Amino acid sequence: MESIKEIFKIGYGPSSSHTMGPAIASKKFLDKNPQATHFKCILYGSLAQTGKGHLTDYIIKKTFGDKKVEVVFDYNKVYEYHPNGMHFFAYKDESLVDDWLVFSVGGGSLKEHNEKRDRFYNTIYPHQKMNNILDYTKKINISFDEYVLKYEGESIIHYLYNILHQMKKTVNNGLFTDGILPGGLKVRRKASKFYAKYMKNPCLEYLVYAYALASSEENASGHIIVTAPTCGSCGVVSAVLLSYQKLNQIDDEKLVKALMVAGLIGNLVKTNASISGAEVGCQGEIGVACSMAAAALSYLTGKTNEEIEYAAEIALEHHLGMTCDPVDGLVQIPCIERNAVASMQAYNIEKYIELTGSSHSITLDSVISVMDETGRDMHAKYRETSTGGLAIHKKG
Ligand code: SF4
Repeated sequence: MESIKEIFKIGYGPSSSHTMGPAIASKKFLDKNPQATHFKCILYGSLAQTGKGHLTDYIIKKTFGDKKVEVVFDYNKVYEYHPNGMHFFAYKDESLVDDWLVFSVGGGSLKEHNEKRDRFYNTIYPHQKMNNILDYTKKINISFDEYVLKYEGESIIHYLYNILHQMKKTVNNGLFTDGILPGGLKVRRKASKFYAKYMKNPCLEYLVYAYALASSEENASGHIIVTAPTCGSCGVVSAVLLSYQKLNQIDDEKLVKALMVAGLIGNLVKTNASISGAEVGCQGEIGVACSMAAAALSYLTGKTNEEIEYAAEIALEHHLGMTCDPVDGLVQIPCIERNAVASMQAYNIEKYIELTGSSHSITLDSVISVMDETGRDMHAKYRETSTGGLAIHKKG
């Protein structure tokens, strides 16, 4: 597994694969070709199908700044390597001076064409499966956050304080902003209303919903958010952790440790399956976010490693098969509500574990494999192309 820094990234919404990844790729290509007079970028597969709604062309043009760039949507070609292909071209006057075929593989990460998708390539951890981590942590008697710290080193603490700081900022921005979200669906922001209800009648549900909506609405507006593990699912982990902090008066240090636990779960899925909606549907985004949040919350409430693993497993298991079919390609319907519902689900799961303990028969490792297989069996219309499901029925 790579560093959990790859799971939590600060950047502009609304999509880690469709805006964050293309923005990073554009910047790299621009920096490599400062002499070029103009550029072209062809988008393929899911990037072409939902690029408009996800603001892919907007972010590419914004990143190239003053440089002229033509963005072309190729709706017919899909690379087998990954559905999120981008081909950049740099020209000096009329001559082609450079080109780069690159793929945005989820969570803001990039891979070159045919680059080995070796999931164990940049590994800093000796274990790639939860079962091995459970055995090891049991053997040397450490918790999951201690395990993460052992392999990430002290630098992860400072990194996660920054992440936590941005999560709070994003939630705060979302709580106090009203109006209609961009994109034409006329979706009205609701976070501030929910928060007002919470202030009148403080209860867990109002607060959790308000926080989850706040981040998701900020994301849908193309503002700065934290991936956890993606932009579209950014509301879940922050809503669960920050609501728990507010209601239980715990300090930031404890939340940073909970982020380590959440990051470990996201990392296991990213390593052994995928967190890309274009590859495995929404189970890889909201399902994984719920799994991370349920694990982090179970950690905060003092559960054992085995119970935390169970919480993560339940959350992912009961999101299996969840499709990605955003209406008009915008990260709004069903995405925003989905963050709110999944956040409360994480709370429900933590309660369930409290009642049942750690004994269970399906492991997190198994459910991650099943999620991967299910996602790859899913018809392309349910994998972030907006050509099926809710995307079609809303239009109809
Ligand atoms: S439906 Fe899920 S996977 Fe698809 S864009 Fe929305 S949050 Fe992301």
